Amino acid sequence: MEDRFVYADNAATTPVAPEVVAAMTPYLTEKWGNPSSMYSKGREARRGLDEARETAAGALGCAPNELYFTSGGTEADNWALKGGARFMRAKQGRTHVITSTIEHPAVLRSCEALAREGFRVSYVKVHENGIIDMDELGRLLDRNTAIVAVMLANNEIGTIQPIPEIAKLAHEAGALMFTDAVQAVGSIPVNVKELGVDMLSLSGHKLGAPKGIGALYMRRGLKIDKYIDGGGQERGMRSGTENLPYIAGLAEALRLAVSRLPDMERVRAMRDRLADYILNNIPHTIYNGDREHRLPGNLNISFEYIEGESLLLLLDMAGICISTGSACSSNSLEPSHVLLALGLPAEKAHGSMRVSLSHGNTEEDIDYIIEKLPGIVKRLRDMSPIYPGEDK
Ligand SMILES: *Cc1c(COP(=O)(O)O)cnc(C)c1O
Repeated sequence: MEDRFVYADNAATTPVAPEVVAAMTPYLTEKWGNPSSMYSKGREARRGLDEARETAAGALGCAPNELYFTSGGTEADNWALKGGARFMRAKQGRTHVITSTIEHPAVLRSCEALAREGFRVSYVKVHENGIIDMDELGRLLDRNTAIVAVMLANNEIGTIQPIPEIAKLAHEAGALMFTDAVQAVGSIPVNVKELGVDMLSLSGHKLGAPKGIGALYMRRGLKIDKYIDGGGQERGMRSGTENLPYIAGLAEALRLAVSRLPDMERVRAMRDRLADYILNNIPHTIYNGDREHRLPGNLNISFEYIEGESLLLLLDMAGICISTGSACSSNSLEPSHVLLALGLPAEKAHGSMRVSLSHGNTEEDIDYIIEKLPGIVKRLRDMSPIYPGEDK
């Protein structure tokens, strides 16, 4: 097979879909008005904003006025967590925050910020398969718990958490329930009412919209503090003239993603074919995460006796984009906190590879990865002074 370019890192970011560019373009060209202006040029923009909010809300099963557009997943996570915790402290004196050990840095660092403000933060452990320990969660919850933050799907190992059950436990203790659904939206069906959460975050660039746009769902009636002070946009909660081109793009990306959910079965089958090939043909490999409760496009494998960074670079030279650890922390050489939380020793966590497939991938992409990967793994192991050989 001749050399190809295979993008298999859709959990890091996705290409902007042509349909999304088409939905954005009118707001970058003729419809450039300010949605707050009362003349027709502004009203035209306001109509676009209202339509986008309706489309986006429809894709998530919420009302348009329960959705707030943000600058991305990180902002939505910060707002939900800090806003939710402070709200419950002001209202009920609750000062305990519960999250999991495998959250995205946007959530973990926000929890650390809350700890500096005097909140007590508990980190629920996960089992070896990456699913959170519900018994431990039950023990941690108390009448002092302000908010529980557990992600719907993990960005590194793709595990899908039992959010409806977690939300039920949180609510029985009188706490708020927030889920970071950035990786889930677009890959699996996401309905905020069925999940039973009070808040949910999502990000455009993980589902075919550009970087720098996201949203926070906040259940009607919940009134945590506003995030940005100013002119009162987003119903007074997140001021700043709306980023209409990107909001229109996000809405179209959400609509498109929901319409394409049936195609994720094809993605799942490709992922499983790749996983089976690797496990059956490359020795000393570890399948990370749960087989079943998992995003259809995610595969995370540890190759013993190699460094993930070397694997990434050699695959890149072959035209294949994958990641090791998570891109958000890949400017450090620390092993992934998610893989360590599964109980994987640091040296095994170091040799990990995340493949994240999406609609854009084809069977030929999988064939090409299968053609290139085994030779690259072998080459790296042959250079390793500690590699015991294939039969050990
Ligand atoms: C990418 C990601 C984020 C951050 O979203 P940005 O829009 O890049 O700020 C948050 N949580 C998870 C799980 C992610 O994968």
